[in-house]
Amino acid sequence: MDFQTADKAFIREINKSTILKVIREKGPISRADIAKLTGLNPATVTNNVNILLEADIITETGIGDSSGGRKPILLELNKNAFYAIGVDMGLKRARAALINLCGEIIKSIDMPYGNSIDEKDVIKRIIELVNALLDVRNIDKNKILGIGIGVHGIVNPVEGISIYAPKFGWKDVAIKDIFEKEFRMPVLIDNDVRVMALGEKWFGNAKSAKDFVFINVGSGIGSAIVINGDIYRGSLYGAGEIGHISIAENGPKCNCGNFGCLEVMASGTALEKRVIHDINLGKESIIPKLAGDDLSKITGEIIYEAAKLNDKLALDALYDVGSCLGYAVSNLINILNPEIIIIGGGVARAGDFVLKPLCDTAHKKSMEHLSQRVRILPSYLNENCGIIGAATLILNDLFEGSQK
Ligand SMILES: [Zn+2]
Repeated sequence: MDFQTADKAFIREINKSTILKVIREKGPISRADIAKLTGLNPATVTNNVNILLEADIITETGIGDSSGGRKPILLELNKNAFYAIGVDMGLKRARAALINLCGEIIKSIDMPYGNSIDEKDVIKRIIELVNALLDVRNIDKNKILGIGIGVHGIVNPVEGISIYAPKFGWKDVAIKDIFEKEFRMPVLIDNDVRVMALGEKWFGNAKSAKDFVFINVGSGIGSAIVINGDIYRGSLYGAGEIGHISIAENGPKCNCGNFGCLEVMASGTALEKRVIHDINLGKESIIPKLAGDDLSKITGEIIYEAAKLNDKLALDALYDVGSCLGYAVSNLINILNPEIIIIGGGVARAGDFVLKPLCDTAHKKSMEHLSQRVRILPSYLNENCGIIGAATLILNDLFEGSQK
């Protein structure tokens, strides 16, 4: 191929992906409006639209309003043109899902790791999960674009390596290589919270936001920072370790070696420990009864149930978790001035019991001018954020042409 032909092919690819992006984000949309929005000339739009129609990636749908003259035919994404698999490597179990181009889950499966979180055992389980998704009836395997995987800890997404997954005790596991060899299709990996942010950016509460932060409050606490539409990773892929912001100088010891980190004050694990501690001190609560008189069975869900029944111990514990998170969020507002902060993970499912004190504290403790505008919202994708987000790594690569 000479240079000129290569250039033409390259430009055509760029035009196609720009057009595809506009159709995905603004569809159903007419050819004329695509030309207006992209600045491409109408003949280029028509040519590229024809290529996309032929490839069955988009479809013609309905007739739009006319601004005089013939009514235009509208174009939209063919949501089942392609699929992607997303894997969320949780701490105790893995979940995986097959999703279409609109982020709809076709099938999802989850599987506990059992007794071993050894690298080989976990990977073997996940291979089983992915195999089950590749076998979904009525789905052409050739339409599955690839596999996206979210892993906790420090991840190098460029080389596809889990550099350090503290809760598994892993170092330098070449996840991308292992899965690409096994499945012979593209594999992309990233930190679990960053894929959640990507999921919210594509299909959730951050669709319109350029600058936002996603905070995951589960058994640990992490965040993903999106600046001007791109994920900010930091110099060593470690940006957003909000769980280790110091909240209480004399607080409990954290896994990181420090004391009073946000994670030991406000994570799901911290919430359960605090409630058990209060019950052991003899404080009144219906929580032991809800847990079948077995304190080891107390979970975040049970504490939430008790709060709904107006149990003071549960209400106080959730309020304090919300306030601690609010302090951390106020720092984020002051430093990053985001448009939106999204709270995901199990603790966020306790709704206003946590979100109300969180918002109150965050607004009170941050600069008024910045806090007036920021919106603090629960995750839209909720418990599916990790799997949809992981699969979105693959869609993002298709539409944006690079990992962002
Ligand atoms: Zn810590």
